[in-house]
Amino acid sequence: MAVPPKPASPQRPSSPPKPAAESAPPPVAQPRAPAPRLPPAAPGRGGRLHLGEMLLHAGVINQAKLDQALSMARRNNERLGSVLIANGFARPEEIAKTLAQQFRVAYLEPNRVKVEMVDREAVTLVGIKVLKERKMLPLLSRGRPQLLLGDPLDTQGTDQVEAVLGKREYVISTTSAIEMVLQIISFETVDADQIVESARDSIEAGEVNALFQYILAKAVLEKASDVHIEPSASTSVVRYRIDGEMKVALSIPRTRHDNLANVIYGMAGVDLSDFGRLHDGRFSFAFAGRKLDIRFASSPTVEGPMMVMRILDDTRSLATLEELGYAPWNLTAIDQLLRYPFGLVLVVGPTGSGKTTTLYSCLSRINDGATKILTVEDPVEIRVPSVQQVQVNEKAEVTFARSIRAFLRQDPDVILVGEIRDEETAREAFRAANTGHLVFSTLHANSSVEAIGRLMDLGMDPYQVSTTLLGSLSQRLMRKVCKYCAKRVSLNPATLIPEHAENLFGAGRVPTAPFEVFEQGTGCEKCSGGNAGRTVVAEVMLLEKSVRELIYQRASNQQVVQAAREHGFRTMTDNALWMLVKGEASLKEIEATIGPVTLARGKRGDRTQNGGTP
Ligand SMILES: [Zn+2]
Repeated sequence: MAVPPKPASPQRPSSPPKPAAESAPPPVAQPRAPAPRLPPAAPGRGGRLHLGEMLLHAGVINQAKLDQALSMARRNNERLGSVLIANGFARPEEIAKTLAQQFRVAYLEPNRVKVEMVDREAVTLVGIKVLKERKMLPLLSRGRPQLLLGDPLDTQGTDQVEAVLGKREYVISTTSAIEMVLQIISFETVDADQIVESARDSIEAGEVNALFQYILAKAVLEKASDVHIEPSASTSVVRYRIDGEMKVALSIPRTRHDNLANVIYGMAGVDLSDFGRLHDGRFSFAFAGRKLDIRFASSPTVEGPMMVMRILDDTRSLATLEELGYAPWNLTAIDQLLRYPFGLVLVVGPTGSGKTTTLYSCLSRINDGATKILTVEDPVEIRVPSVQQVQVNEKAEVTFARSIRAFLRQDPDVILVGEIRDEETAREAFRAANTGHLVFSTLHANSSVEAIGRLMDLGMDPYQVSTTLLGSLSQRLMRKVCKYCAKRVSLNPATLIPEHAENLFGAGRVPTAPFEVFEQGTGCEKCSGGNAGRTVVAEVMLLEKSVRELIYQRASNQQVVQAAREHGFRTMTDNALWMLVKGEASLKEIEATIGPVTLARGKRGDRTQNGGTP
C-alpha cells in the first residue's frame, strides 16, 4: 500500500493549495490513485486556524468575523466551520470548498450532487441511518467509487464506512446537499398512496402524523413556498405553490381532513378542534438536517378549515443579490446604496414581489460582524444569525414606531423596519435615518418614483424626502423561460411600444429587422410547465442631486424619472426587455408580470398599473 499523500501542511497557511478540480465534473483526474488519507480530527487550534486563515485569504471572511468566530468556537467547543455558518459569516459552500482545498480533494458543487450518482449498492451495505449520521454519501462516478464527505474532519466516520466499503476516492460537498440526497433516497421507498391509505383506515394519531410529515417533506423537496389544504364535500385537496404557481399534490379523504387539521393545530399551538375561527401560528419542522419555520393560517370555509402553511426556508435568506438575479446595473446601484453610513433606503412592490428576501440579502451583504443591525418586522419571516430581530406585537404595544424609538437607545448602525404604513412610523424612520443610521424599509408603491409620492402621502414634506431618501428599489418576481421547450416568435421592433424600444436600443438606433424571442415555454422534462425558476426584475432609483432638487420642487413623476435617466436609471421594463433579448424571459411572462410591452398585444386589459415606471 502506497504512502498516502499528506494534506496541506498547516504550517504554511500563507500559500493555500490550489483546489484539486474545483469546477471539474465529479470524476477526479487521478484514476486508481490511493485515496488521500485525511488527517486525524484536528481538535486543537492548528486545524481551525488553518481553515480560518484560508477563508481569510480567500476573502470569504474578515479578521473581525474570524476572531469573533474563533472565540465562540473555543468557548462552546464547536468547529469553526459550523460557527461561521451558524452566524451567517460564511456560506456552507464556501466552507466546503475551502475544506476541499485544505485536504486537496475535489469539491462538488451542492447543486451537482444528484440522486443518479449515488452508489445504491454501497448505500444498502452501509445503511442509510449511518450515512445520515456521518453525513457521507457513496457515489459512483463513471464507474469509479467515491465517498462524498460533508465533514472531512470526521475520521471516525470515514473509518466506519470504509470498514464496510473499502478505500474510496474522497470528494467534498456541503452537508445539506448530502442530507438532501439521502432524504430523497429514503423517500423513494415511501408510497404516498400507502400513507393516504393508512390514514384513511386508521384514526391513530401516528398515521395522520405520517401523512402530515409526508405532505410537508414532499413540499420541501419540490421547493414549494406554500402548502394549501382545501376541504370540499368529498375530498380534501393538497396543493403546493411552486415558483408562484399552484399545483395539485394529492387528494385525501374528506374524513381525514379534520384529523390532519388537528395535527397541524397541535403543532401550531392553536386551540384544538376550534375549527370555526380564524387562526394563525408558527412552528418548526425538521427536515434533511434543516430546521424549517412554518407559518400557518386557517380560515373557516363552509366545508371546514382551509389551511395554508408557508415554508420559511432560512437558507433562502443567504441567497446573495447576484443569485436573486439582479441585472448588473441594478447590482451596482444597490451596492452604492449599501455604502451610505446613514439615510433611508426603500424597497417597494406588491405582496409576493420578494421584498423581504431582498432586504435580508442586503443585510447579509453588510453584516460584517462589525455592524450592529436591529430589525422590527411583522412577521419575522426569516431569522438572521447575529441580527437582533423584534416581532411587532400590537397587544403588547410593540409597534413599528415604538420599536424604532427604542432602537435609537440601543446604539445600532443599521435598522430594518418591516414596513412603513402610517405617518408615525414614517416620522420615526426618518428621524432614525437623520440621526446617523442606515434605515431600510418597504412601502406599497408600484414603482420606485411612486415611493416618493407615497412618502408625501404619509405626511413627509418634499424637503424631508429629498434630504433623507437615498434611493428606492422597485421589483417583481418573474418566471424565467425554459430554453429547452420554449416556442419562438419573431418580434418586429416596430411593434414594441416606441418608448420601450428606444430605451432598449437607444434613441434613433431601433433596428428595423425582426428578431427572434421566446414566446412562452410549453413544458418538458427539464422544467415545470415551461418555466425554469424565478428571477427578479427591478429598477433602482438613486436620488442624485438633480433628482433631489426636482423632488424639492414637487416636480412630476415624469420629470423625476427623466432626470434619473440622465444619471443611468433604467426602468423595470428596460430590465425585462433586456432579459427578453437575452433569451431568459418569454414575452408572455413579461407581459403577465409588468404589463404590455408591444403595441400589437396591448389588448389584455389595462395592466400597466402592475408594472414599474412606464
Ligand atoms: Zn421545458
